[in-house]
Amino acid sequence: MSDTHEHATGDSMPELKQRVLELEGMLRACRLHLPNAPAEAVRELAASEERFALAVRGTNDGIWDWDIRTGQVFFSPPWKSMIGYADDEIENVFATFENLLHPEDHDRVMTMLNDYLAGRIPRYSVEFRFHHKDGSWRWILARGRALRDEHGAPYRMAGSHTDVTERKQVEEELQQARQAAESANNAKSTFLANMSHEIRTPMNGVIGMSELLLGTELNDTQREYLEMVKLSADSLLELLNDILDFSKIEAGRMELDVHEFDLNEIVTEIVQAMSLRVFQKRLVLLHHISPKVPARLIGDDGRLRQILVNLIGNAIKFTHKGGVTIEVDVASEAADLITLHFKINDTGIGIAADMQESIFEAFTQAETSTSRRYGGTGLGLAICHDLVALMQGRIWVESQPGTGSTFHFTAAFGRASGIPIKPKSPRIESIVATHASMKVLIAEDGHVNQLVGARMLEKRGHLITLASNGQEAIDLFKSAPFDAILMDVHMPGINGYAATARIRHLEQTTGGHVPIIAMTANAMKGDRERCLAAGMDDYISKPLRSAELFQVVEQFARNSAAQEPPQAAHALASPAPLPPADTAPFDLAEFRESTGDEKLMRKLVAIFSEDSQKYLRKAEKALAAGKATPLYEAAHSLKGMLGVYAAKKALTLSTELSDASHAGDLKTSQLILDQLKKECALLADALAASFSATT
Ligand code: ADP
Repeated sequence: MSDTHEHATGDSMPELKQRVLELEGMLRACRLHLPNAPAEAVRELAASEERFALAVRGTNDGIWDWDIRTGQVFFSPPWKSMIGYADDEIENVFATFENLLHPEDHDRVMTMLNDYLAGRIPRYSVEFRFHHKDGSWRWILARGRALRDEHGAPYRMAGSHTDVTERKQVEEELQQARQAAESANNAKSTFLANMSHEIRTPMNGVIGMSELLLGTELNDTQREYLEMVKLSADSLLELLNDILDFSKIEAGRMELDVHEFDLNEIVTEIVQAMSLRVFQKRLVLLHHISPKVPARLIGDDGRLRQILVNLIGNAIKFTHKGGVTIEVDVASEAADLITLHFKINDTGIGIAADMQESIFEAFTQAETSTSRRYGGTGLGLAICHDLVALMQGRIWVESQPGTGSTFHFTAAFGRASGIPIKPKSPRIESIVATHASMKVLIAEDGHVNQLVGARMLEKRGHLITLASNGQEAIDLFKSAPFDAILMDVHMPGINGYAATARIRHLEQTTGGHVPIIAMTANAMKGDRERCLAAGMDDYISKPLRSAELFQVVEQFARNSAAQEPPQAAHALASPAPLPPADTAPFDLAEFRESTGDEKLMRKLVAIFSEDSQKYLRKAEKALAAGKATPLYEAAHSLKGMLGVYAAKKALTLSTELSDASHAGDLKTSQLILDQLKKECALLADALAASFSATT
């Protein structure tokens, strides 16, 4: 037996004896009143009392027994020693209990007790701080039960006190440890987010300068080395973006940027962008959106694009034969919410069953050799997983090693009202191939960024004026007209927001509206909104990429020529006469943009005839045999390759062919195929002509 137990038992004896004597007295009295009380009942009562006495002795808990009518309370010796008092040091009245309660806990305990006695709550069980003789506070768990008379009024209540100080301390320490761990994790994520964000800025210099250098005279070795630099810088930027996203999600700072968009447009754009890789790997890339899917949805199209690019990119990366299909269908519909089901299927290497769940965790790859063979960080799917969750969906995979994989995800979107809204950013189609020379003011304090922006635009034939701060930008704006202003938002003195506000203010008296494009390295949510709210017309993030830069700047070319504010010009843009590029078999500038490399372009031109002929022949054979499926596949292959050459007309025809064959309409297919053959012949000539001319 332990010391404490011994002590508790020893101390409790006189008090108990006293109680037993009292009870015996009561029993005797009872017997006097009930002379016929059976001896059996009396013995049982005595036995029960004895059991109670044993229980009291056998526990370290303190026992209390309160006579509600007199206010007298029996406190067992352990009850008292629990808070440092000897048996005779404490008065056996209710006030003793009340006075020892922590002032902050007093009212709560009393309310609970009253509620229990009044029958408003079924149980009395409460934790509170209790004053120890040594001045410290102990945590006590009190439980008790009342005896009630025939009217339900309580006249006696008894129960126990348990010292739970240690448990409370452990709980508190755990809570503190958890908070510390959480804040450390948050600090880490915030640090990562900030760091990857900061590194993006100097990356601007590396990527921009490499792009510029690639556009100059270089010998083959220099070009090859520089292309490696550019490639490494691009993949470093991709990695930074992944880390930024992942740490933003971890730090709980990832929010969806929701607006109306066209799903078909997004899928088509991604497929187009991927077509070069698909083409180089000799794969087929097909997509099908169910007609049940509404054309316009409300959601974060940027993040949806990111998920799709990731999954389709992986599918292409891990497939060496066959192809990739993308399917979109409706999973479920509610009043104004629609859940879509996306399926990305490939005929690639597949994923072992035991890896199919863990690949969605950060930094996990299916095999340790994967990163050496295929590159990648293992962050992509973890980000997809979290983004999908933000879109109230889930993501999973079905796969068979050696056969292929199907990645599924669902995501909820709002339904658009049906009223088309102004597109968020200019679409690829709206770029005019034959661009007019524009006068552009670049306000930017960083020398590298000034140079990158200026050289890119100068090479494109635009006239550039430089300003190093907001004040200079305002002064230059006052002295000469510009077609567009590229405005860095962070500049010393007057920053980009303030300079824009000043320019907009000046325009109130002078009239006109100069397009202002914000430039920022910020990749944080809300930047775009902030720029637009500050009176800017569009937004471009650094590092500057030539394709994006031209697109953003040149969207204002026609607008300024027509002296129209951009909104009105947007509305006019679509029915405007077709630019000459639309009638040409292909768009050289766009072809150059999408391939980004002269050598590759020449290679692509060299193989055009052979490849297009192959698919055209396949289509003809299918038509002759009356088979729609191989016809559809051939049309799709053509679609994929023609996109690479920016051959708009041929691309449209092959799209029509794939639609007609998908619908099984062989008659129409024949008509389209005839046209397509002619167009491909024209295209082959045009390609050959421009490349013999440029080389
Ligand atoms: P990363 O591709 O950057 O390594 P991800 O998170 O996108 O990272 O993918 C994690 C891993 O899952 C990949 O490394 C690969 O092993 C596996 N994986 C993803 N997609 C496919 C796929 N379509 N086919 C085969 N394996 C895949």
